[in-house]
Amino acid sequence: MELSTRIRGILDGGDDGWGVYYKARAMKAAGVDVTELTIGEHDIRTDPSILKAMYDAAMGGHTGYVDVPGTPSLRDAVAQRVEHQTHVPTTRRNVLITPGGQAALFAAHMAACDDGDTALFIDPHYTTYPGTIRSVGAKAMAIPARSRDGFQPDLDAVRRAAKGAKSLLINTPNNPTGVIYTDDTLQGLAQVCRDEDLWLISDEVYDSQVWHGAHLSPRALPGMAERTLVVGSMSKSHAMTGSRLGWIIGPDEAIAHLATLSINTNYGVAGFIQDAALFALRQGPGFEAKIAAPFRRRRDAATPLFSGQEAARLIPSDGAMYLMVDIRATGLSGEEFALRLLDDEHIAVMPGESFGHAAAGHVRIAMTIDDDRFLDAVERLIEFANTLTAGDTQ
Ligand code: PMP
Repeated sequence: MELSTRIRGILDGGDDGWGVYYKARAMKAAGVDVTELTIGEHDIRTDPSILKAMYDAAMGGHTGYVDVPGTPSLRDAVAQRVEHQTHVPTTRRNVLITPGGQAALFAAHMAACDDGDTALFIDPHYTTYPGTIRSVGAKAMAIPARSRDGFQPDLDAVRRAAKGAKSLLINTPNNPTGVIYTDDTLQGLAQVCRDEDLWLISDEVYDSQVWHGAHLSPRALPGMAERTLVVGSMSKSHAMTGSRLGWIIGPDEAIAHLATLSINTNYGVAGFIQDAALFALRQGPGFEAKIAAPFRRRRDAATPLFSGQEAARLIPSDGAMYLMVDIRATGLSGEEFALRLLDDEHIAVMPGESFGHAAAGHVRIAMTIDDDRFLDAVERLIEFANTLTAGDTQ
């Protein structure tokens, strides 16, 4: 029985970009001591106090069907967090609770795009972006950002591509690059969206991981609240990746329609998880800073190790849990480098090619293991790159 072209076309003939990760996992299962710097997941687990709130809520009976758009108290808490961060008036009518940021990305594109519409995204990109866009039946179009521009989006290229497109998906702080878009970049992108009548889908799941300055949400820029759908999540800010709790912030009319989509797709998020998320949000920004602290610390400690290095050049990282390293001087692709690093040093990093074309010849390091092992792995990676440029390619 033939499956739909849409579902068969999600990956568009490519793979899912996780080959090195799967190989590292297989080596680990075979008993090899692999240092894994691949996946964007904390080395701590969800805080026991949040789990207790989850347990108490479940034992208290919050196990039935819930209000599909989210419990009023959680929607209020998310609205307050956003309003506090951005000063944009936000109420529960602007908030839809979703099963994680990924579901929010999908739903946001469903809201913005019709079948066959062009949806733009910036390359390098989080692995799921093109597949998410194709899942809603839209055409995924990548706009390259260049390594030499510190992976800030190229505004002229975005403007050219925007003609006739429906939406633009951006992500700052950025996965995979660790780059934060400058205020000028965000203002320029907002201008394009206003001029070309585009929806801006702003993935801000790393908004609590900003190493200097404050996070700027483009929804706060003039004329943007009415055309911006912000994707948020408890995964990164509260180490709750497995709880699957995210949201979309948008104009109330969009949120009302998105609630209808939820009714017809996932039927909302479990009440006890929403109660745990509410408890977690009520711990305030100090709690979020505590969850982010190890990544800031590791980034601060690793940055000087790259100073003066030619074979492995660090793209200055200002946020999120990743370092992006340019290894083009070794003459290898990111994938070849990652596979050889895995074979020779038993260190697993993600090839830049997993995140599109623009990060070819780079590798992404997730700062998600304890400090000593992490810094040791970074030193060995730099040394390995130096060995390759020294001509010793054995
Ligand atoms: N956006 C980005 C940029 C991400 O890195 C991730 C997860 N790694 C997500 C969205 C999805 O996160 P979740 O579904 O866990 O909220």
